[in-house]
Amino acid sequence: MTNPRTLFDKIWDSHVIVEKPGGDALLHIDRNFVHEGSFHAFGALAKEGRTVRKPRQTFAVADHYVPTVGRERGIDAAEDADARHMIRLLEENCRVNNVAHFGIADERQGIVHVIGPELGITQPGLTITCGDSHTSTHGALGAYAFGTGASQLKQILATQCLWLKRPKTLQVVVNGTLGPQVTGKDIVLAIIAKIGTAGATGHVIEFAGSAIRGLTVEGRLTVCNMAIEAGGRAGMIAPDDAVYEYLHGREYAPKGADWDRALAQWRTLPTDDGARFDRTVTLDATQLEPMLTWGTSPEEALPVSGHIPDPKTLGDPNQRAHALQALAYMDLKPGMALTDIRIDRAFIGSCTNGRIEDLRAAAAVLKGRKSMIPAWVSPGSTALKAQAEAEGLHRIFLDAGVEWRASGCSSCAAMNGDTVPAGLRCASTSNRNFEGRQGKGARTHLMSPAMAAAAMVTGHVTDVRKLLSSPLPQGEG
Ligand code: SF4
Repeated sequence: MTNPRTLFDKIWDSHVIVEKPGGDALLHIDRNFVHEGSFHAFGALAKEGRTVRKPRQTFAVADHYVPTVGRERGIDAAEDADARHMIRLLEENCRVNNVAHFGIADERQGIVHVIGPELGITQPGLTITCGDSHTSTHGALGAYAFGTGASQLKQILATQCLWLKRPKTLQVVVNGTLGPQVTGKDIVLAIIAKIGTAGATGHVIEFAGSAIRGLTVEGRLTVCNMAIEAGGRAGMIAPDDAVYEYLHGREYAPKGADWDRALAQWRTLPTDDGARFDRTVTLDATQLEPMLTWGTSPEEALPVSGHIPDPKTLGDPNQRAHALQALAYMDLKPGMALTDIRIDRAFIGSCTNGRIEDLRAAAAVLKGRKSMIPAWVSPGSTALKAQAEAEGLHRIFLDAGVEWRASGCSSCAAMNGDTVPAGLRCASTSNRNFEGRQGKGARTHLMSPAMAAAAMVTGHVTDVRKLLSSPLPQGEG
């Protein structure tokens, strides 16, 4: 009888080609995603006179630099010449290397970590890489997915393999029933607030427990997306029927007898009873509230009913120093209620919270209400934008005075020019809030789509549960 193994162990063991004494292993990579930022690796490959070794296992998408307005004009809609060059360079590198490319005008275009699952390229049991740290997202379908640097990406493009040290494993168990308006985003912000941004360094996180199993696939993708923000090498969730139903019929998912074979293998993947993790952390889902960040790190997050902490009360000197700097940058005072924080802008989108469920949640809050602040929605993919329009969600956003934009990374990293002006605060559904993430001097508060929509309606941080329990403005509905 074999020893009980974790989901991660099973994927790792079945992908190791050779191991060196000391722990380095050569791992086979099943799927590799590239985007505009992958030009360094393509350039290094070309310099050596090589081309992509397994073009059919490589998938490219334009997302980081694409404009979110004026998209009917294609690449010309990008005002910045460098952005236009980046988008064209990806197209050219894909043409030379015969790689599938979901370009700016392709109906399959979207944010790389949204379209991978959406097209069925992401599947349980696979090793998946991309030159982007939020590749951890794909682990929600039971894959081992992680971000790479440029030299690692070049190695993968050249060989479809990668030398890696075996990471440790951290199990995060979240049990209990979630309260109203408490989402995957709130779970993962609460985890990061608890263990810190270095809490999972060197580990692959497996999220487990009844609250995780109760999430939709979209909610699980949000949780795994932010595993990297806890320092994790990757985030994973055991695949189950929800995942198989999600994948069935998608463009790149197996079909016919191949589907039956794949399903039989996927069912063997979940962690065995008695399997050992290097560490385990637990969280009680019943205690969770909608969360948001007040500072400049995802660990500086609190329930919406909370108050800005006084750095003097923080025991850890590093945390204290960071909190002091964060308060100065965010222009906030200790003791202030989070709900007193004024909000100037809002952004709904990104690979964290740009999926259909996120758009529905925000629209449910905005229906019959108006945004008091400039705000926009950038759906996670072009296909999702079409789906939302078929459901009439875009009408709700437009009626609320919220811009309905095209798909891309947009104001998550703001590389396409969708920046937040210096000194202004943005309620953002993205994943990072460090200084300048959304533009020089921009102040970012991370939260769920429903919470961001509630902030739009009031112009300040608002407990969405209270907003939804109050009557709609007269004449609306
Ligand atoms: S949405 Fe943000 S985190 Fe996601 S791939 Fe784009 S820039 Fe990276």
